[in-house]
This record gives sequence, C-alpha cells and structure tokens, in this order.
Amino acid sequence: MLPFNEPLVTGKENAYIQEVLNRKKISGDGDFTGKCSTWFEDHLGCRKALLTTSGTHALEMAALLADIQPADEIIMPSYTFVSTANAFVLRGAIIVFVDIRPDTMNIDESRLEEAITSKTRAIVPVHYGGVACEMDTIMEIAARHNLLVIEDAAQGMMSEYKGKDLGTIGHLGCYSFHESKNYNCGEGGLLIINDDSLVRRAEIIREKGTNRSEFFRGQADKYTWMDIGSSYLPSELNAACLYAQLEVADHINARRLQLWRRYYEGLKPLAEKGRLVLPHIPEGCRHNAHMFFIKVKDGNERQRLIRYLQENGVMAVFHYIPLHSSPAGRLYGRFSGHDKYTTRESERLLRLPMYYNLEETDVDRVVALIGRYYERDGS
Ligand SMILES: *Cc1c(COP(=O)(O)O)cnc(C)c1O
Repeated sequence: MLPFNEPLVTGKENAYIQEVLNRKKISGDGDFTGKCSTWFEDHLGCRKALLTTSGTHALEMAALLADIQPADEIIMPSYTFVSTANAFVLRGAIIVFVDIRPDTMNIDESRLEEAITSKTRAIVPVHYGGVACEMDTIMEIAARHNLLVIEDAAQGMMSEYKGKDLGTIGHLGCYSFHESKNYNCGEGGLLIINDDSLVRRAEIIREKGTNRSEFFRGQADKYTWMDIGSSYLPSELNAACLYAQLEVADHINARRLQLWRRYYEGLKPLAEKGRLVLPHIPEGCRHNAHMFFIKVKDGNERQRLIRYLQENGVMAVFHYIPLHSSPAGRLYGRFSGHDKYTTRESERLLRLPMYYNLEETDVDRVVALIGRYYERDGS
C-alpha cells in the first residue's frame, strides 16, 4: 500500500541525537535548540523564534501572549485543525468562524469585517496547505480595528507571501514540526514573534512563568516566578532531530515542489475536462508543496474514489470536519454569516500521498489510477 504520508528522516538525525546523549545535556534550550532558533531568526528575519513542544503549544503560547480574556472573540476559519480554536477556547474566548474562499480553502478576507464586534481581539488566518491567506487585506483590516493577527502557519514553513515568509507577517506566527509536516522532529513547534514588545513575556511564559532565560544569559542574578506560564520548551533530542532537517531545508522543499508539479501536470487533462479541480496558488505566493489535494464533484464521489484508490493500493485521505459543525465547535463558537463554501468544499476535497520519499513513478501511478477511475465511471 502506498502510504498517504511518510515522515521525513534525512539520516543525519541519529548522529545529532547521539551527540546530545553523549553530552549529557538533554533537557531544553541547549546547543541544538540555540542552533535551530538562530537558523529560523536568520532565515525568517523575525525578531525572535522560540522552539516549542508542538504547533498546538505555539498557538497556546500565542493566546497567552495576546492576553486573551474570557468572552473575547477570535476570528478564524472553520475549516482548520482543532488546535487553532482550542488554544483560544482554553483562555475562555468565543470563536467566530468565517467562511473560506473556494480557491485556496483559506479564510475569505472579504467576509472578515462583518464578523468584527466590540469584543473581537484577534484574527487567526490559517495558511492551508502552505498557501498564503490574502495577508495585505487581513493586516489592513486588523490595523484599522486594532486587532492582533496570529498566523497559524503550522503547514507553512518555507512558504512566502509577497516575498515574506509565512508566520512573519502578523504579530505572531506558529509552525508545527509534527511528523505529518514538511520538517519534523516527531512532535515540535515554533513561535515566531514579530512584535518587539512581546519577546520578553514570551520567554517567561515558555519557561513555566520564570525569568530563567534571562538568568542563563546573565541578565538577572536569580530566577523566579514572574508570570503565568507552562513548560513549552522541547528537549534537546527534538531540537537535534529538527536541526538535521533544517540544514537541508532548501533541498527538501525543492524535491517536494517537483512532486507537486508532477501531480499538477499529470492531472491537468482531467481538470480541463471538468472532472476535478486542482489547487490554486494566488499571484505573489510561493508555496511549499505541503499537500496535494484535488476536489471532486461531491462527498459521495470522494468516498467512491477513496475506495477505488485503496483497492488499488493507494491511501488517500480527507480531513477537517468543519469545526462549527463539531460538538465542541457548536459549544464554543458561532459561524458569522452564511456557510457558502466551508461545508460544501471540505466535503469534496481529497488529499493524495505527498512526502519527500515519494517517487515519480508513485505519482504517475496515482495519476493513472485517477484517470482510470473517471474512464470507468462512464465518460
Ligand atoms: C498540524 C497543525 C497544527 C498543530 O500542530 P501540532 O504540532 O500537531 O500540535 C495546528 N494547526 C494546523 C493548521 C495544523 O496543520
């Protein structure tokens, strides 16, 4: 069976992890964590990049930093992973879901303004599949209403919007290094801080609410409890694993893009015949080939195609039951305006196998199978 995903392992991880074990400095914020932070700060040109234990925890840190209070309202798409919403619900916030654009599956920036009330505190754009949201418009609306922008760029490392890396445009940005993402250390994440005034508190929240980071830098003569916080720093083992992948990040990105383009070119004839819809990359966006999805006629056709692919040895999957129709989503959130696209488009989306070690011949096989499905299905 051709798997849907295979986590990336470069081969260099073992040596770096062994180095950590030999050094007997295994807990967080050692050498490799420093190397990773420096890599991100150089690469992203951001004010500060802090490794976290997961993408979920980076979002939770962002909610703490944003000082979200009970009954504050947070705007986000309903078509996203649960952690985008959970991070803010944990602070007592109410989630206001806004419809998505059918072309990118990202939040529809033209429906944002009508969702804003006197209680709105932040907008959380999710860059689905590493393809950027319309950030200029989102930042302009946020500035006009004095709102924070927290980018859920969990899938967006190495992607750009008008020359800027995803996660560096809003006040805060979050990456994930879960094994399903382009770069991984099993479980891990990154909080990107673009607003100077949030840096000091971010370090404190991440270190259980203490000023331990300053103490280690010699900027404080003792360390103590300063604020609320939790344990958001990953072990050096995770950082060592991640660093092995950062060193070859460009190479990994280039390879994924090759595979992505092969799918795109291979499936184009079917798209031209109107059988399916291919992903859309807006002008000015550079994506990272995080995912390759197609959209078929409807949910029933998706089910049939998944079964056909599975019978022929290929795992294809779907995801994101829209949060506003989930039990917790109904409890903690509301949908602003009309759900024109969220439910309809999410039901017809199908994700194809996409990972670094996929072969050209694998892509060709999947493309051929999809072609055969449509021939068989009576053209
Ligand atoms: C993966 C993902 C997360 C969560 O990241 P973890 O590292 O698994 O906690 C959050 N948001 C989106 C959009 C994701 O894809």
